[in-house]
Amino acid sequence: MPSEKIKISILGATGVVGQNYIKLLQEHPWFKITDVAASHRSAGKPYEEAVKEKWQMSIEIPKEVKDLIVRDVQDFDSLKSNISFVFSAMDLPQKEDTKTIEFKYAEKGIPVISNSSANRWTVDVPMIIPEINYNHTEIIPIQQKNRGISKGFVVVKPNCSIQSYITPIYALEVNGFKVEKLIVTTLQAVSGAGYPGVPSLDMLDNIVPYIGGEEEKSEKEPLKVLGKVGEKGIINNDSIQISATCTRVPVTDGHTACVNLKFKNKIPTKEEIIKIWKEFKSVPQELDLPFAPKQPIIYLENIDRPQPRKDRDNDKGMAVTVGRLRKDNVFDYKFVALSHNTIRGAAGGAILNAELLKVKGFLK
Ligand code: NAP
Repeated sequence: MPSEKIKISILGATGVVGQNYIKLLQEHPWFKITDVAASHRSAGKPYEEAVKEKWQMSIEIPKEVKDLIVRDVQDFDSLKSNISFVFSAMDLPQKEDTKTIEFKYAEKGIPVISNSSANRWTVDVPMIIPEINYNHTEIIPIQQKNRGISKGFVVVKPNCSIQSYITPIYALEVNGFKVEKLIVTTLQAVSGAGYPGVPSLDMLDNIVPYIGGEEEKSEKEPLKVLGKVGEKGIINNDSIQISATCTRVPVTDGHTACVNLKFKNKIPTKEEIIKIWKEFKSVPQELDLPFAPKQPIIYLENIDRPQPRKDRDNDKGMAVTVGRLRKDNVFDYKFVALSHNTIRGAAGGAILNAELLKVKGFLK
């Protein structure tokens, strides 16, 4: 690895996900934040002043970041020439605008690793969970060719809740137990709505049984993640059916998913499933990437786990925690899965994507 760290920028640095990047990247061995950008409302202010009302992290703003002057994400001319790539955590009112801005960075030779849903359905943009579809980086050259881009590209990570159930499903699939159907009910934390997010009077003593667009994402995104590389982009998996209900619950961090699953033909025993989950490892672990959890799926035997407050920080918030595997009267099995939405589901997951891209030679 190079002795000098790779200089990077955070777009949307003032938001909940942006703040998580700033916390998580403090001591990163390869990457260093030297530029922060947000809306015109924050532009021109020192970072500390731009976030003073809304800093949510449990640490002080790191000294290397607090005096950086926030750039407008659309002020491409002020982007320092030594920035190698950007993490995008913007939340613009119109997704099309986010899409356009991300590709403008790519056209200017800057790789973009994004949390936004804006480019998730762009067919030549890989949507990566490194333990699952690490090979989808193969469509980056196709994306560059399609668009006449030479150095830059856009890579996204999926929605903040899906890794909690898709990683355990993928582990079963690669071990020969093909899944036919899933019914998923998510209980999603308030931090998933950004800051200031859902009004407190809607959340306290309450559950909101609707999150705009979330059920469609939960049903469709896994099919791209589990898809294969085609000549023009990703060809979605069409063999798994998913039905999702997504709810917002009064939990700060950590999205829970209650899952019922039906296998195609071969049905594993409960012991086989637990063994597969406990032993599951993939490319990030083989490559020993700095943000890779040692054990991507942690199975807890205790009957009342996983719980967000107790289990969301497992392996620094990067592991998926699973429990309550039991027979289902309608499908074959049911279980409960949990992952940290702003770490594994957002900033941490994207940092792991960047590490994979770096090792594969896409980030210079
Ligand atoms: P957030 O707290 O609302 O932050 C939004 C960020 O976008 C802020 O930095 C904001 O800058 C910037 N922004 C807003 N309008 C803008 C504009 N017109 N031009 C440029 N920048 C603008 O949202 P968040 O929760 O961090 O989410 C950020 C992105 O990550 C979203 O696309 C979201 O869907 C995705 N995501 C979130 C989570 C999660 O758990 N929260 C998980 C996965 C993915 P100002 O402060 O200057 O307004």
